[in-house]
Amino acid sequence: MVLRLFNTLTRKKETFSPIKKNEVGLYGCGPTVYHYAHLGNMRTYIFIDILKRTLTFNSYKVKHIMNITDVGHLVSDADDGEDKMLKGAKREKKTVWQVAEFYTEAVKKDMGKLNIISPNIWCKATDHIKEQLAMIEKLEKKGFTYTAGGNVYFNTSKFKEYGRLAKLNLKAEKQARVEKDPNKKNPHDFVLWFTKSKFDDQEMKWDSKYGKGFPGWHIECSAMATKYLGEHFDIHCGAIDLIPTHHTNEIAQSEAALSVSPWVHYWMHGEFLVLSEGNKMSKSSGEFLTLQVVIDKGYDPLAYRYFCLGTHYRKPLMFSWEAMDSAQNALKKLQNKVLELLEKPNEGKESTEKYIENFQGAINDDLNMPQALAVIWEMLKDEEVNNKNKYKTLLEFDRVLGLQLDTIKKLNIPDEVQILMEKREHARLKKNWKEADQIREKLKSLGYSIEDTPSGPVVKKV
Ligand code: AMP
Ligand code: ZN
Repeated sequence: MVLRLFNTLTRKKETFSPIKKNEVGLYGCGPTVYHYAHLGNMRTYIFIDILKRTLTFNSYKVKHIMNITDVGHLVSDADDGEDKMLKGAKREKKTVWQVAEFYTEAVKKDMGKLNIISPNIWCKATDHIKEQLAMIEKLEKKGFTYTAGGNVYFNTSKFKEYGRLAKLNLKAEKQARVEKDPNKKNPHDFVLWFTKSKFDDQEMKWDSKYGKGFPGWHIECSAMATKYLGEHFDIHCGAIDLIPTHHTNEIAQSEAALSVSPWVHYWMHGEFLVLSEGNKMSKSSGEFLTLQVVIDKGYDPLAYRYFCLGTHYRKPLMFSWEAMDSAQNALKKLQNKVLELLEKPNEGKESTEKYIENFQGAINDDLNMPQALAVIWEMLKDEEVNNKNKYKTLLEFDRVLGLQLDTIKKLNIPDEVQILMEKREHARLKKNWKEADQIREKLKSLGYSIEDTPSGPVVKKV
């Protein structure tokens, strides 16, 4: 079955075709580790995880790389404003290295709780200074750089296709933009290497032929993606905020340095998690919720994952506690359904083939997870399908959903509870509702609840 993905480069859904047969190189822009990752960041990582799982479901072998920005990312996407790492270190009275290590571990833990599969390679910007400098030198040799005020800049006027991804109108922007950096020759030029002239209290500094300093933000992704995925690769992702600057600059410097076009075949971007209309969750504004807050309020972290699956990745997703309640309830319902499938065999004769086809049709239509969930609920309601088959198929689907449905096991029901269940069933058959209710209460006091389903009563732990 064909897999179609929306490519930001062409603004179209395209049939996916990898560079190497059956293998996919995937790069996702990762966290800037100066603070906890927020639920918005996690939405993007869940989107990338679903993409990766969908590729695997389609029998591709995926090599997934994710970077950790532990140096060089300023508060503004342009090259002005405070250094994010320094900001975190000052706030916490730690060294930038300690801050980076602490938040790197924190983000990995959160991703684990959301059942996001770890990338094949996590790569830190600070471990790849040599590769970044090598790329800057390549750009210098090819005439794409200039030095001004102690910094090395990428000269965007030398790269004819600058702004292709973002469909930037450079002329119009040039007139509208108020330039804050007098050293820039063109408004969109960006720094490849800062020297100490920019921030005197910058702790992270490396020697280079350009002077002691540190890399600009964008060069790390180009250098590391090239190192691990080669000079051109299949898919590059992040959220939509990365389109106009970070990814636009990654394309310019990579295509200029490597003389390849296109450097990346498919660019995919997830929409934001928003707190209210148009108000995106962000680290720098301080307005953010972490996964820990969700857990502390009593939610299963996978309920947040379920919540994200309910909206297509290219649509904004509005966060609310009411929506989290609905997601938690739906997830619980799904988990209880799994128990029901395990405990109540039925006589259904139909196969799950049409549901498998519809499920794959949904995920292969640019990761339409809301549609995929609808297919699952439809299958679960279908009385003509054998519960054993439903269970097997559901676990197959869960390879993409990642809701850990395989961890739900049959309850080991004590004999006392089993006997009470049978007595209640007997009472119900005789329409002795009073006795049936009394037994239900007794079961409740023992920590069990009973739900009467079309295929009979199902007992659950409360
Ligand atoms: P950062 O740690 O800020 O560098 O961001 C890490 C990833 O999260 C990047 O791919 C961002 O584009 C993405 N991101 C940032 N804010 C949001 C948001 N509110 N919703 C979804 N993704 C976001
Ligand atoms: Zn990046």
